[in-house]
Amino acid sequence: MSSKERLPPLREVIAKHGLMAKKSLGQNFLLDLNLTGRIARAAGALADRPVLEIGPGPGGLTRALLSQGAEVIAVERDPRFLPALAEIQAAYPGKLTIVEGDALELDEAALVQKIGRGPMPVVANLPYNVATPLVVKWLEYEPWPPWFDSLTLMFQREVADRLAAQVDTSAYGRLSVLAQWRSNVKRLFDVPPQAFVPAPKVTSAIVRIEPLAQARAEASRPDLSRVLSAAFGQRRKMLRQSLKALGVPPELLLEKAGLEPTARAETISLDGFAALARAYGALSRA
Ligand code: SAM
Repeated sequence: MSSKERLPPLREVIAKHGLMAKKSLGQNFLLDLNLTGRIARAAGALADRPVLEIGPGPGGLTRALLSQGAEVIAVERDPRFLPALAEIQAAYPGKLTIVEGDALELDEAALVQKIGRGPMPVVANLPYNVATPLVVKWLEYEPWPPWFDSLTLMFQREVADRLAAQVDTSAYGRLSVLAQWRSNVKRLFDVPPQAFVPAPKVTSAIVRIEPLAQARAEASRPDLSRVLSAAFGQRRKMLRQSLKALGVPPELLLEKAGLEPTARAETISLDGFAALARAYGALSRA
């Protein structure tokens, strides 16, 4: 029997190391090998490729990635998992690097540069409390194309819906535009609460995001982010009201962008937001 096959079942690992899930760190573990295998396969061909995993926890998804032949760099904030992860390291010598720390603080581009084999895929069952700030950090990365070539991520279904939402729907918002402006976004499959230990209250979903070489519409990313925050910060209001937060005359801004002052953020397409970002850039720097 190889050392990989000798790795104990995850439930045993959790019991042996006393790894009670902490709600404050968004800990909901995946113990079903079929599911972790399915997620790892959804990430594409990983053999001999460095892969970034956020939050390995007891290591279920980590094991699935390693068995696909990936070289995993896993960032974990909770040191209680380190002994369990060390056992996986021993079973896959040289294939698993653990970085102890907060993924929100990680300089991923520096990491990829150090390894010298970028861009890199990211695969993770994200802690729900930092999932949105993390994906925003990655989607807002400059320069573009970024340090990653795909993101295969588990989110709460509501966040997955927002990432993939089309204009004129209730889920359409800042995340939808930010993601779809310069990436392809695909919702792959739902994962029911019972698949996790402990079970969360809501259904989750796997989303795959692939960056495009170029954005679909020209805009400066910081200008687009500002316009999106103002417009969706008050999504029920008309744009002539919500865009006041930008500190330039909203009527002028909307005219320059060719948009109706009475329109609401939810009805503005990606091209419309890019036009607003360009108009905002021109007016704010005039
Ligand atoms: N990957 C494991 C699985 O699928 O069973 C655990 C997933 S659990 C939803 C999220 C993991 O992210 C936990 O291990 C948690 O400790 C870790 N985590 C939470 N916040 C983090 C952060 N800011 N940076 C890195 N890891 C974090």
